Amino acid sequence: MASTTGRCLCGAARYRLSEAPTGFGACHCGMCRRWTGGIELGVMVAADAIVWEADETMRTYRSSDWAERGFCATCGTSLFWRLTAPGPMQGMLSLGVGTLDDAEGLSFEMELCVDSKPESYAFAGDRTRMTAAEVAAMMSDAGGSA
Ligand SMILES: [Zn+2]
Ligand SMILES: [Zn+2]
Repeated sequence: MASTTGRCLCGAARYRLSEAPTGFGACHCGMCRRWTGGIELGVMVAADAIVWEADETMRTYRSSDWAERGFCATCGTSLFWRLTAPGPMQGMLSLGVGTLDDAEGLSFEMELCVDSKPESYAFAGDRTRMTAAEVAAMMSDAGGSA
């Protein structure tokens, strides 16, 4: 089972989740690719399900009209993507799987923006795969202004 605690590379930013995550998703969009330097792998976490035990070095970057991205200003770890647009999902995070102290036991549940993925790699296996247009529709259904 995955842990409920995690941190950035230098350890200055640390969090605790109210329950252990069970699954994660990947986002193939160009923004996530640039932000992580690779592929964004995140667990969905409700706004009230995370407590930051240390966040002095955490900074946020507003990457679009509906979201911001959190990172550690000391070590540069990509920590989370957070929905800022009003609506029932406001404040929801996609928390970087690699920041969990233990990510064993998670299931790989979905891939987002598959139409933005470079041809040179692909994840094997069957799971939900959504195009960028399908993701945008889901966000606007959730109250995002897109
Ligand atoms: Zn750090
Ligand atoms: Zn993305």
